Amino acid sequence: MEKTSRVYVARHEDMVGAAIVRALRREGCENIILRDQEQMDLSDEKQVGDFFKQERPEYVFCFAGPHGGICHNVAYPADLIYLNLKIQCAVIHSAYKYGVKKLLFMAGSCGYPRESRQPIREDYFMEGKMEPTSIAYSTAKAAGIEMCQAYNRQYGVCFVPVALPNYYGAGDDYSDNGHVLAGVLRKIAAAAEDGSESVILWGTGEPKRQFMYVDDLADAVVLIMNRYQETALINAAGGYEFTIAEMAEKIKEIAGYKGFVVFDISKPDGAARKLLDHSKLLSLGFREKISFDQGLRLIYEDYMTTFTGKGGTE
Ligand code: GDP
Repeated sequence: MEKTSRVYVARHEDMVGAAIVRALRREGCENIILRDQEQMDLSDEKQVGDFFKQERPEYVFCFAGPHGGICHNVAYPADLIYLNLKIQCAVIHSAYKYGVKKLLFMAGSCGYPRESRQPIREDYFMEGKMEPTSIAYSTAKAAGIEMCQAYNRQYGVCFVPVALPNYYGAGDDYSDNGHVLAGVLRKIAAAAEDGSESVILWGTGEPKRQFMYVDDLADAVVLIMNRYQETALINAAGGYEFTIAEMAEKIKEIAGYKGFVVFDISKPDGAARKLLDHSKLLSLGFREKISFDQGLRLIYEDYMTTFTGKGGTE
């Protein structure tokens, strides 16, 4: 990308899209094209096609369909598969039709097999069965990954699928529909606030997740756009791996919570582990900037400022 290149980020209202826009601005990108949800329905192929025809973006970052944590995946499988398929068809096909130079198609790591060997290398994609709690979302995303490769083969375009780890950060979804770190942060911060003796988290607490701060993730994705010369799937992975129970302990420290964490084992664990291998990303020169402790402070401050008006740690 040049500083003057026309770059479209779909969707910039989402925390990942917003972080990508911040990363592009840090790089001095002068021509970022954005459309709010009210301005353009990404699931409407006509509207999306008209937008591409008019704006002629050269580079596209696409993480546009609905997505969420385990609870969201279990509650809304129909919406997830329907809307993700529609949106990615509209964006990928329009990108081909209107001559986009390079497109990054981002997907969660749940497209990899549930029982995958660890750390998960890109060539393990489709090697085994997916995790049942997220299979509708993952199937749509796997179709998007294959769609990129099909367009690359048939039309010689440069559409690159990118797998993401469990990211977190400012602007996160703190509701039960979001990912684990933000949801647990909300529960623990609220318990600290109202003096509850215990907090109920889901599952056994034993699954491991790889947590990457969203601004590091955005830097990784922009680096892939600038430096990755291939079109094969690449993991935009980094971060720190902890069990859910270890992560909850760290959040307790930040929030100054002295109560107990109770695990409700009637709730699903999801995949036991999904540690993405990041050798490819490191070979492009990626270095993570935000430690797990720093990242936790940033998200805790964001939560406290947004929901209690009290700001962050002292
Ligand atoms: P996943 O990585 O796709 O499985 O989705 P999540 O980011 O939602 O992580 C789910 C894991 O965290 C599962 O092992 C859950 O049982 C566990 N978990 C524990 N408490 C919570 C919570 O309050 N919210 C969420 N989203 N997950 C939780």
